[in-house]
Amino acid sequence: MGSWVIGPAPEISELDERAALYRDKRKAMDYVSNWICPGCRKEYEPIKNMLVDLPPFGCVDCGLKNNAAYEWKITQCTLNGISLDFKTYDQKLEPHCTLYAITAVIDCTRRLEGAQKGFVFSAPFDINEMVETYNKRTGFKLGNEPQDKLYETYDNCPIVMEVLKSDGIAISIGASDVTTTPVPRLKIRSYFRVDPKDVLYITRLLAGGFPLVAGIRHGFLFNYLSDGQYYCAPTCENTSDAHAVALIGCGVGSNGNKTETFYKVRNSHGIKAHSHYQKREFGGDFIVWSSDVTDVWGLYLAQHEC
Ligand SMILES: [Zn+2]
Repeated sequence: MGSWVIGPAPEISELDERAALYRDKRKAMDYVSNWICPGCRKEYEPIKNMLVDLPPFGCVDCGLKNNAAYEWKITQCTLNGISLDFKTYDQKLEPHCTLYAITAVIDCTRRLEGAQKGFVFSAPFDINEMVETYNKRTGFKLGNEPQDKLYETYDNCPIVMEVLKSDGIAISIGASDVTTTPVPRLKIRSYFRVDPKDVLYITRLLAGGFPLVAGIRHGFLFNYLSDGQYYCAPTCENTSDAHAVALIGCGVGSNGNKTETFYKVRNSHGIKAHSHYQKREFGGDFIVWSSDVTDVWGLYLAQHEC
């Protein structure tokens, strides 16, 4: 292993098409009205997306930023009457955050695709089996790969993605006889990388039904975060031990004295390389500022029936 094929990210036209196909099948949660630029009085309509319409980022004519506050997350949405919320997995103290974050994104995407057709896909994944599959397939130990084998010498995300492409992740089918029934596996078709600075595009991906995997810099307050709280990344930049999480929503708020876009995060609440941290249940999802996100990845699932 150590080579990867990064696929193309969704085009804006694909996001527009999804909006056209599914916008009227969701439960309306739009409160966004037209925005009139206070600088030049130009009027803007909300940006139409599959799951939620978003306020325009700012004025293309005079450059003024729209600082109207809003927030939403995929897990609060319904499509065709089906909730898009999904299970939160627990990586415990293992350095497996990348796999857990990707699994959360797969789980969320699977729900979304099911809801598009009117089905509920919710059978749990066997992540422990996936860890074994990863180690066997790559010859590495998940979370302890040699540095020179990692993407840009720190990120194992594309390696995990490649294994999900070739082997997929096992779905737990419960008490049925595993010796005679092959375990169903869900594979990804491709994966893509997104520029973390392209915040507008990231918000459109999320609103267009693409939950994302993101690396965020470590902070010491991780342990004390509860549902809906802001995460404070350390100011000294160090991407080498970034923690991987799933981005599932976004919003705009005040970060100190400036207005900034934030993301809603579903964590698997373990922290890489911090094994002394006490195990603790998170109350739910937390919030990270867009400037604290270091790497962003997304994926397409292969055809699936469960
Ligand atoms: Zn303007």
